Formats: sequence, C-alpha cells, structure tokens
Amino acid sequence: MKRHSVFAVVREALRQNRGWPKHWESPAPRASYDTVIVGAGGHGLATAYYLGRNHGITDVAVIDKGWLGGGNTGRNTTIIRSNYLQDASAAIYEKSRALYETLSQELNFNLMFSPRGVMMLAQTEHERRGYLRTERANALQGVETRFIDAAEVRRLAPIINIDGPRYPVLGALWQPRGGTARHDAVAWGYARACSDMGMHVIQNCAVTGIRSEAGRVTGIATERGEIACRRLGLVVAGHSGVLAGMAGFRLPVESVALQALVSEPVKPCLDVVIMANTVHGYISQSDKGEMVIGGGADGYNNYTQRGSFHHIEETVRALIETFPMLSRLRMLRQWGGIVDMTGDRSPILSKTPLEGCFVNCGWGTGGFKAIPGSGWAMAELMARGSSPLAEGFSLNRFREGRFIDESVAAGVAH
Ligand SMILES: Cc1cc2nc3c(=O)[nH]c(=O)nc-3n(C[C@H](O)[C@H](O)[C@H](O)COP(=O)(O)OP(=O)(O)OC[C@H]3O[C@@H](n4cnc5c(N)ncnc54)[C@H](O)[C@@H]3O)c2cc1C
Repeated sequence: MKRHSVFAVVREALRQNRGWPKHWESPAPRASYDTVIVGAGGHGLATAYYLGRNHGITDVAVIDKGWLGGGNTGRNTTIIRSNYLQDASAAIYEKSRALYETLSQELNFNLMFSPRGVMMLAQTEHERRGYLRTERANALQGVETRFIDAAEVRRLAPIINIDGPRYPVLGALWQPRGGTARHDAVAWGYARACSDMGMHVIQNCAVTGIRSEAGRVTGIATERGEIACRRLGLVVAGHSGVLAGMAGFRLPVESVALQALVSEPVKPCLDVVIMANTVHGYISQSDKGEMVIGGGADGYNNYTQRGSFHHIEETVRALIETFPMLSRLRMLRQWGGIVDMTGDRSPILSKTPLEGCFVNCGWGTGGFKAIPGSGWAMAELMARGSSPLAEGFSLNRFREGRFIDESVAAGVAH
C-alpha cells in the first residue's frame, strides 16, 4: 500500500492524482475463512483490524450488505468523549478516546481527529448534581473532566445564551480532550489497513442465514453463496436482532431511528462540541462550516434510515432558546440511522448461546466514539475467549441483573 506522506501528496498533485492505488480491494468471497465479521461499519472493521494487529489473525472476511460505513458509522454526529459514570464504561470509552489520539498516524490515514473539547450543559439542578457526581467518578477513573461554571461556558462558547427563560445554563461537565473525527474516514482507514493485511472486505453481500452444527457455528449463507467459518462476529448495530434471529437466539435490544441535520455553512463561530441534554439537542461546527445538529430518537421501534419533519422542528425549537443564532440559519439536509438500544444504555460485547458466534452491539446513540476501543476488546474476546475491557458487557448481565446503568451519560442521543 502506498503510504500517505508529504512527498507522496506533492508527487500525486503533480501527476493529477493518477498514481494512488485503490485503498482496499473488492475481492469475490471465498468458500471459507477462519473468521467472518458481519457488518463493515466502524465496529466490524475495527474488530477485524485488531484481530490482525494484536492477535495475528488475518484469514478474515468483513461482509456488509451495503457499502462500508453506510450504516450508523457514516450517519452520526461524530462526538467523541469518555465522561461516562460507571467504571466499565469509562474504561472502554477512555481506551477508545486514547486510541483516537494517534489513530491517524497508526492507520496512515487522516481521520481529522479534533480534540476541541466537549461540554455537557447542566440546565437543571438535577442535571448539575448528576454531572458533579460524574466529575468525581471520572477523577477516580483517570478520565480528565471538570465541572465548569456558567461564565466559563460563555467564555468557551460565546454564541450561547446562558440566561434562557426556561432552562438557564448552570454550568457544564467539560472534557477538554473530547472532540470529533471524520466518521467515513474512520471506516475507510480501518478498511484500508484490513485490506493491506490480506483480509477481504466484501460489500453488497447481505448475510441471509447462519449455519451451525451441534450448537457450534459452521458458516453463513449470503446473497453470493455459502461461506464456512470457525468464528463469527455479528457487528450490525440496528440489525443485531435480525442476525441473532438467524443464529437462533434473542437479544435484549430495540432498534429505533435516530436523526440528525446540518445547516448551511457559516463562518467559524463554535470551536467546541456542546450537548444540551435537558432540551435534547447537541451541536458542533464542521470544518466546512456547517452546524452539525443531533436530535432525538423516534418514540417507537422501526428500521427507517431517514429523517422526519417533526424531529427537525422539535430539535431546532429546543435548541434555539440556548443558541438563538440558529433561528437565522437554513437547514441543508437531515438523515436517520437505525440505532440499537439496550435497557441499561450500555453495549453488549459477548459470547452467545451459539458456540463460536460473538456479538458486538447495543452501542445505541453513542457508539462512534467507541469504535477503536470496541474493536480492540471484541478482537481480544474473539481471539482469546475473554477480554478485560469486555468483561462487564456480556449478555449474562441481563439475566443476572448486573446492569451498567448509563442512562445519565448515554440516555440521550449522541
Ligand atoms: C444520527 C446519529 C447520530 C449519532 N451521533 C453519535 C455521536 O455523535 N457520537 C457517537 O459516539 N455515536 C453517535 N451515534 C451512534 C453511532 O453512529 C453508532 O453507535 C455506531 O456508528 C455503530 O457502529 P457499527 O459499526 O456498530 O454499526 P453500523 O455503522 O450501523 O454498521 C453495521 C453494518 O451492518 C450492516 N448489516 C446489517 N445487516 C446486515 C446483513 N444482514 N448482512 C450484512 N451486513 C449487514 C449494515 O449495512 C451496516 O453497514 C449516532 C448515530 C446516529 C444514527
């Protein structure tokens, strides 16, 4: 694979960029692989990458029914943070955030990671107390966060109205090394590295069945034929329940559409990420100048990957009180993705009742930030049978009542 470097970029600029090789191959599926990952979103691709990088397992295919990154990975609002409450969550989200810091260099692909700082506004007394508790938990977990007062909020984000009539800003939980990254680039960077290790990234190939014998997985049926495998990872976010059904078990996951929208581009006016959970909206400014705005999830289960008018209205109406300048912007486009929600708002990284079949899902509204850490843990789980980072997130927790309750940190969409 040709490395990206200053010299390569200059050389290719002079040759009208004709010399770049394909970033990844598009091979025909083989009859068998050691390991198959279903889902070429960020989590599936990162799992494959760390299987090769950390465990030397490269006889791997990553299979997707659409184009890679075409699921939630390419539809999210790209917020990266690790200020969760519970120890198990802080460990995996902080591992992930830390991996993001150097991932562009590692993958030799510019992910545009921008640790510009994330603030979660406290707009009720209840919320303020909740974030003070999280600040202290984060201090014990080694996650750098701090509760800042309203004046500091206004200094960091001058476009904010801290004296809103219904929900004044009382302060915020501030994570200075949180931020954003380019979502497609994360999928592309991992896909390129996987392909470079000889793995097969296969697009436009829906998995239609899961084969097993004597309680052990033996392969999958796809639109392009049968594929045998020894190990199978199901990493399909909103479609996890469908794939689990093919494998003969049920998951405690609900699928709903989550929506977002962007405005027309404007001059730089916001250089931090802001989440306003009470009014339920979050906002950052992209490098192109668009205001990227995250809204809510539909109130009913569905598999609809598109936006709806009532959500634009609801989200923008809620945000305008805190960000009055939004009322003068035109909206460019909106979209939706199918997110996979668990009851405790924490993910599932687990063995399943079918031996050799593993599942990684339940990231719900907040899994973009977790892609590197999740891939790291899932690869370890699949290669070694256990992973310290994944331990708390097994399916058994729902049977045993060991919930990892993140409804404060993750109960809203982000
Ligand atoms: C509007 C919106 C905003 C969000 N904002 C944020 C945010 O700011 N920060 C954050 O951390 N997270 C955010 N998220 C959540 C985040 O996007 C997801 O948690 C994360 O991208 C999930 O990645 P994934 O790889 O698990 O799933 P996906 O990227 O959805 O990949 C799953 C893949 O599985 C494939 N698939 C499904 N069924 C089959 C089949 N039968 N055969 C083969 N392939 C199949 C799909 O085509 C898809 O490509 C947001 C999500 C949405 C929708």
